[in-house]
Amino acid sequence: MEFPLTETALGTDKDIEVDTAAVCDQCQGAGAAVGTPVYPCHSCSGLGTSGPGPHGGSSLQCSSCHGSGVRIPSPCAPCAGTGRVPVRRTLTVRIPAGLRSGETLRLVAHGTMHLRGGGRGDLLLHLDVDEDESRA
Ligand SMILES: [Zn+2]
Ligand SMILES: [Zn+2]
Repeated sequence: MEFPLTETALGTDKDIEVDTAAVCDQCQGAGAAVGTPVYPCHSCSGLGTSGPGPHGGSSLQCSSCHGSGVRIPSPCAPCAGTGRVPVRRTLTVRIPAGLRSGETLRLVAHGTMHLRGGGRGDLLLHLDVDEDESRA
């Protein structure tokens, strides 16, 4: 995300498009088709990891559930069992005056939904300000 210095020197409102995800309203984030159960993954007991390998390395993502920790016999179609659907939203962001290049703007609770109803995370916008426009 780049902004000319002229805009950031005084502060500005900026419309930006963000790709984020929303809870699937078909399954309410459960990931299973409506009326069907969700089981803990039998391979990893719901942990999502298969534990340290035979050589004691770091734990691996469970190959049965791909790290989700659940087994969904009938995945919800709109979200393919993830409980989330991608959405593109336009946010109006207040760019504070005097923002410097490389600063990160935190937009609380505008981020991507966590898996399965874990709430909405913060959206971090990394801003690159072109501080020397004569150079461009
Ligand atoms: Zn769904
Ligand atoms: Zn598993």
